[in-house]
Amino acid sequence: MRTRICGIFLSIALILSVNVLAQDKKALVGGTLINGLGSTPIQDSVILISGGTIQKVGTVDSLPVPQGYEIISTEAMSVLPGLWDMHVHLMITGHADYSYWHPAYKDRFASEIMPASAVQLLLAGVTSARDLGAPLEDTISVRDRLRSGEIPGPRMFWSGPFIQKKSYPGTEMYRWGVDGPQDAREKVKRLADAGMDVIKLIDQDLMTLEEAQAVVDEAHKHGLKVVAHAHRPPEIRRGLEIGVDNFEHTGLSAAPEYPEDVMVMLKERTAASMIVGDPLYWTPTVEGLWNYTSTRDNPEKLDSTCWHRGLEQSTIDDIKASITEPSELTYMFLTPKRKGTLKKKIAQLRESGVVMMIGTDSGIPMKFHCQSTWNELDVWVRVMGIPAMEAIQAATFWPAKFMGVEDQWGTIVAGRHADIIAVKGDVLKYINLLQDVDFVMKGGVVYKQDGQPVESALAGQ
Ligand SMILES: [Zn+2]
Repeated sequence: MRTRICGIFLSIALILSVNVLAQDKKALVGGTLINGLGSTPIQDSVILISGGTIQKVGTVDSLPVPQGYEIISTEAMSVLPGLWDMHVHLMITGHADYSYWHPAYKDRFASEIMPASAVQLLLAGVTSARDLGAPLEDTISVRDRLRSGEIPGPRMFWSGPFIQKKSYPGTEMYRWGVDGPQDAREKVKRLADAGMDVIKLIDQDLMTLEEAQAVVDEAHKHGLKVVAHAHRPPEIRRGLEIGVDNFEHTGLSAAPEYPEDVMVMLKERTAASMIVGDPLYWTPTVEGLWNYTSTRDNPEKLDSTCWHRGLEQSTIDDIKASITEPSELTYMFLTPKRKGTLKKKIAQLRESGVVMMIGTDSGIPMKFHCQSTWNELDVWVRVMGIPAMEAIQAATFWPAKFMGVEDQWGTIVAGRHADIIAVKGDVLKYINLLQDVDFVMKGGVVYKQDGQPVESALAGQ
C-alpha cells in the first residue's frame, strides 16, 4: 500500500515536472521566418525556446524538435520578431481633447490609463516600445510594475517629461521648461537619476544655444541619447548643431519639402556618422496623417473594441463622445494639407542616409494603441513604396540597435530573448496582415494564441 501511494506521488511529481518543462521549453514549427536581420526568409522554420531565450533556429529538416518541447505550429504563417514602436504615449488613449483629458485623467494615468495602453500594445504584437512623454512619478510607477511582471505590457523605454524652453500652460506635469544652461543640466540629471532611458527635447530652436547644448551634453554624460522634435527647419538645424541622436516627426507645417540647406546638413551628418559607426536616426511618424483622413471618411474602425481593454466603461464612453464627429477635430485641420507633402519628405529623408524607425504617436486623437503600429508599416510600404523587409527592420532590428540592446533582443537569433509574433499569410507581400497578429510571445511567455488573448498569462499566472 505504502509503495503504491509512493508510486502515485511519484507519477504526480513526474507529470508536474514534465508540465513545467513543457511550459518552459517551446518549439515554433513550420512558418516562414523573417529574422529581422534582412536576410532571406527561412521556409519551414523551427525555433527552439527555453527559459525565455531563443536556443536554436533552423528548419524542419535541419533541426528536429527534441523530446520535452511543447510544439506550437506556425504553419502557413509569417514568423517575425516582436514589433517595436519607438513613439508611443501611454498616458493618452485616443481622446480628442487634451485640455480636457489631462486634468480629468491625470490621477488615473498610473492606475488605469497607462497599464491599459501597455496591454493593448502587447496584444497588437508590440513587444517593445518607447514612451516619449509622461509625468515622471507615473512613469516610474508603471515602469516598476511592468518590470516586476505585476502588469503585462511591452519591454518599455521611457523619456519621462519633455525638456523644452517653456512648458505650455497646463502641461507642466509632463513638460519641463528650462531657464539657463545650469537649469537644463539639472533637469536632465534628475531624469537620468530617476532611471529614464532617453531624453526628449523639443523646441530646441527656441532655447539659447547654450541651453540646448547643455541638454545634449548632460544627457550624453549619463549615457542617454537625445530624441528631438523636427517640426521646423530651425529646429532641425539646431538639433544637428547640438548633436541630437534621433529626430521625430516630419514637420507640422504644410511646406512641400525640406529646404536645401537642411538636406546638405543632414547628408554631412550621415556621412560623418559612417566614420564613428553611429547613424542618425529618424522616426517620421507619418501614419497619423493617413489615419486622420481615413478615419474621418470611414469611422467604422472606431467601433472596434480592441481599444477598450483595461479601461473603465466611463472612460470608454468619454473617449467615444469626444470623437463622434471626427471631421470637427481642429487638432487635425492642417492634416490633409500636410499629408500631400509627406511622400516627398520621406523620399528626401531616405536619400539623406538617415536610419528611419517605426513610431506612431500612438494615443493621439482617434489613434488607439491596438491599431497604431501596423498602420505605420502599412503606410510606409503601400504609400511610400518602402520595401516590406526594410519596414520590418525599422520595427525590429534598428530600434533595438538604437536603444543599445541589439545583442539581447530585436531579432530572432540564438541567445536573444524570445520576443516573437506570428500571423497567417505572407507579410512581405501583404504587410497589412499585421493588423491582426495571431500569436504574441514575449520572453518565452505566450500572450496571444490563435488570435485570442491568453488570459492566464496576462494575469501573470
Ligand atoms: Zn508624440
